[in-house]
Amino acid sequence: MAPRERGKLKSVCRKHIRLQPPPLDDRRDTPVTGGVHTDRQMPIETRVRFPERSAFHDDLNRRVDGYFEGEGRSRHGGWRMAAKSAVLFAWLAGSWCLLMFAPVHAWEAVLLSVSVGLAMAGIGFSVMHDANHGGTSSDGRLNGVMSFALDLMGASSFLWRLKHNVQHHTYPNISGLDPDIEAGSPFLRLAPWQPRRWHHRFQPLYVWLLYGVFPLQWWFFHDPRELVTGRIGGKQFPPARGWTLFAALAGKAFFLGWAFVLPALLHPSWALFGLWAIAIFTLGNVLAAVFQLAHCVGEADFVVSGRVDTDWAEHQIATTVDFARSNALLGWYLGGLNFQVEHHLFPRVCHLHYPALAAIVEETCLAHGVRYRCEPTLRSALAANFAWLHRMGLPLRLEVS
Ligand SMILES: [Zn+2]
Repeated sequence: MAPRERGKLKSVCRKHIRLQPPPLDDRRDTPVTGGVHTDRQMPIETRVRFPERSAFHDDLNRRVDGYFEGEGRSRHGGWRMAAKSAVLFAWLAGSWCLLMFAPVHAWEAVLLSVSVGLAMAGIGFSVMHDANHGGTSSDGRLNGVMSFALDLMGASSFLWRLKHNVQHHTYPNISGLDPDIEAGSPFLRLAPWQPRRWHHRFQPLYVWLLYGVFPLQWWFFHDPRELVTGRIGGKQFPPARGWTLFAALAGKAFFLGWAFVLPALLHPSWALFGLWAIAIFTLGNVLAAVFQLAHCVGEADFVVSGRVDTDWAEHQIATTVDFARSNALLGWYLGGLNFQVEHHLFPRVCHLHYPALAAIVEETCLAHGVRYRCEPTLRSALAANFAWLHRMGLPLRLEVS
């Protein structure tokens, strides 16, 4: 993105987009609300119907089509994605090989373990995420191969597509339908409809510990349970069979080999547990934080009814928040996931296009009076997430006082 465009994004983000969270006692009739509700037994609908496509949505698609087709641009990544993927895989392989085979001091081993965790998260953001959405290439087979990057890092890409592409992307921040927002229960209270327990008061303090162990839960508990039962969050899905099942199991076996068995054979020492903990803690925190900054902040809406008043595109914008859009280095590492609004609107477009799409989305929002949400910096986004966790942890009588 040109510096001028980046500067424009920054200024608009600060001047026009920075919006205040709704007041704590906001209880509008609309089912889309950022307010906090006091009813612990808030009903959870299992079906949602979005209204017909709005004029805003049509106009947005027309403008984005113009960006791609008018200039003859591909919606996919091309050689830039190939180069980026190679860099990220080399980062992981290099860190792992140094850790395994180079004579390193203890402090160097600690840094390399952090590096392994960061590289795994980076591959997750940039490589497997785009590929599983079909955004890496126009060739479906290449997307399929690249999506297997997730299996090589311990989690099933087959289950990911069901949970992330279908459930989370269709129903972000809708009660009972978005697995990401329900995943922390009962340890975390991320949404107003979730029951409040005494320990949620301290969730801004201990949330990082939970993030740190969530990869273990993902690899060794959720994935195996969902593959065996054929259910995700109580909902049945067509079970994995044949090649799909084989690929999921082979990916797990390969991951266990390089991440746990081989290190234990090469370095049979108790110190390994500390290094594993550091790598997993880093991976879990980085992955979870990026999700939290996009959806678990006061500016995002939370939907508690079976009917949504806005069409699908406006719902994505209402429940998703961009952050630090001018930070090019962060955007590179996060695979464009600081542009989550654009990702939710155009998940099949390669993330390399998100900065350019952000300007189009923002202009279209301004033209149609749709509220676009953005935190200007990483620090302000982290502060907004901390404030939301604190607010969700308050005793109910204080939430509305
Ligand atoms: Zn996605």
